Amino acid sequence: MANQVASTLPLFLDLGTPKPSTRDIAHTIRNGGTSALTDAERRADEATYQEVACRSALNPVSGMPFKWTLNPYRGCTHGCHYCFARRYHVQFELNADDEFASVILVKRNVAEVLRREVDRPAWKREVVAVGTATDPYQPIEGHYRLTRSCLEVLAAGRTPIGLVTKGPMIVRDCDKLRDLTRAAGATVYMSVPTVDEEAWRTLEPGTAHPLQRLRAVRTLVDAGVNAGVLMAPIVPGFSSSRDKLERTVKAIADHGARFVGCNVMYLQDGTRSHFMKFLEREFPSMQPRYERLYEQKYPPASYRNEVRGMVRVLQERYGLVRRQDASTTVAEPDGTKERVNDAEQVGFAW
Ligand code: SF4
Repeated sequence: MANQVASTLPLFLDLGTPKPSTRDIAHTIRNGGTSALTDAERRADEATYQEVACRSALNPVSGMPFKWTLNPYRGCTHGCHYCFARRYHVQFELNADDEFASVILVKRNVAEVLRREVDRPAWKREVVAVGTATDPYQPIEGHYRLTRSCLEVLAAGRTPIGLVTKGPMIVRDCDKLRDLTRAAGATVYMSVPTVDEEAWRTLEPGTAHPLQRLRAVRTLVDAGVNAGVLMAPIVPGFSSSRDKLERTVKAIADHGARFVGCNVMYLQDGTRSHFMKFLEREFPSMQPRYERLYEQKYPPASYRNEVRGMVRVLQERYGLVRRQDASTTVAEPDGTKERVNDAEQVGFAW
């Protein structure tokens, strides 16, 4: 009888197979490659999703304008060629090229772990940057809803956030973002480096159309969420001409963004090697200029100031507020800060 009862007990007693940790997964891949991920799920978008159990949800960071980051996923099917997070994938024995965009680690328990962390009496409710190493609204979020669960937990824990995304799916969570705005404060940074169709298709192959992202900004602002745009990164030779910058700034203004920030691409480690291979394959004639411009991680300060100066002029022309607070520097994780030359720069050629 007891066995009969046990066999008919509802599933809430079935705790399922424990998920491997990210360290376990790194070990598995080191020994057998990604084909050794036998319990990963390959979905219709051709990406492979490996569920993992995380031990911590909030990651402490130093040298940044915020002290904590939160990333419910690792890897990103948006697959932007310039993505600075590509290099983090290498830490999991995955490569920064195709595997960054096609093998995604899903932190299945992230919201539960986050709840424990923000419930601690010692938690100081400092700003959490969401989406610094992956897009929290990449398509798989529609299935797992991990970002949404985290927003609920952060609102309950009265913890303010800055969230960066290219995913229009964020409008699904307007209700949670409004709760968080009331409870602690929330700022959404929609990443729209350019509205130029060719540059978008070339550089951000898995993302939604830039105008769809801007329409999401409009929806968020109308819903009472503090939302603006990061033109980050501006990619030399692809999205940096005066005409492209102007069309982008104008579109951002037309969609009611509350602020705008910008940054020029930098290249480091796995991101650098991926981007240079991409250039070699698709745009070999641009290689020599890139090698000169990117002798170091960043292009020369004079170049960056020229781009930023031009964007500043356009921002003023179209009545957009410049965002100077911490989170606009998300694309510079080493915390580098520079003074931007206030003078208008007009000799910018790329
Ligand atoms: S959307 Fe963001 S995290 Fe995803 S690939 Fe593009 S830059 Fe990287």
